[in-house]
Amino acid sequence: MPKMRAVEVAHAGGPLEIVEREIPEPEPGTVRIKVQACGICHSDTVTKDGLFPGIQYPRVPGHEVIGLIDAVGQNVPRWTVGQRVGVGWNGGYCGYCDSCRKGNFFACETSTQVTGVTRDGGYADYMIAPSSALALVPEQLSAEEAAPLMCAGVTTFNCLRNSGARPGDVVAVIGLGGLGHLGIQFAAKSGFNTVAIGRGKDKEALARKLGASHYIDTAAQDPAAELLKLGGAKVILATVTSADAMKAVIGGLMPTGTLMIVGAVPSLEVPALQLLLKSQQVKGWYSGTSFDSQETLAFSVLSGVRSMNESYPLEKVVEAYERMEQGKARFRVVLTMEK
Ligand SMILES: [Zn+2]
Ligand SMILES: [Zn+2]
Repeated sequence: MPKMRAVEVAHAGGPLEIVEREIPEPEPGTVRIKVQACGICHSDTVTKDGLFPGIQYPRVPGHEVIGLIDAVGQNVPRWTVGQRVGVGWNGGYCGYCDSCRKGNFFACETSTQVTGVTRDGGYADYMIAPSSALALVPEQLSAEEAAPLMCAGVTTFNCLRNSGARPGDVVAVIGLGGLGHLGIQFAAKSGFNTVAIGRGKDKEALARKLGASHYIDTAAQDPAAELLKLGGAKVILATVTSADAMKAVIGGLMPTGTLMIVGAVPSLEVPALQLLLKSQQVKGWYSGTSFDSQETLAFSVLSGVRSMNESYPLEKVVEAYERMEQGKARFRVVLTMEK
């Protein structure tokens, strides 16, 4: 049997280990992908550390996958060998449950699949993915460029385009990390009056290079007061995982404004009186499904939005993962599979 390399987590909290596995065959409704690149996302910690309910081991992490379809299972219309595809966090849905029938594919009730969590992901030479999880990758993007767009990209782009903001509106992005550096670009390219909010004067040049029209340094300024000077934010995109950072800006929303949360904080205290008096909202946002990812890739080609990445070969997965986990990466980490 032909073999492949895969990075396995053997048990919750276990190390990332490169093992040899048989190359899997695609079951009906799925395709096999020869992986070219896979991003390392902070959410991969749910696999490594056993934070997802019911997760089973051994498991291969990775939900920012780009590669070529190299085998197609039965009952897979439209997809063919040789197409370049991406797979993100949403690893497929049934299409017939009540959530799917309502169009809420991300909340599928019967066969919710999470790439690299409930099924093996892209830290490997090959992976199997349901056809409902596939996004077509435009040829203008390299595999390394496209990979982070499958999670960090779709999360920020899809959140912003569904936030209710219109061109010209003040849109603030908190954080200049892996999500934030993409969020600022998407906001600016969408025609929003884009405000980057970060800690420290040293981040201003980068924020402006990414397209921000304004920069607020939370070490020296009150971000809520600064946003109100601009008329208040229609949308604040919170990419950080700090509830305190979110609480500090929520007073900067304009009437009817929305705080959109994509940074995973366990809980957040909100000023209920302010929200009701100003008809404001606090809203969470699920990243998106495969077609949202496909549209994220297409918009990135159209507008020139690119993820800034550090690339590592698969053999250096432990070092690469540490860069992500320690928050040292500028700004996303990508594994490449070429030997
Ligand atoms: Zn992710
Ligand atoms: Zn469903």
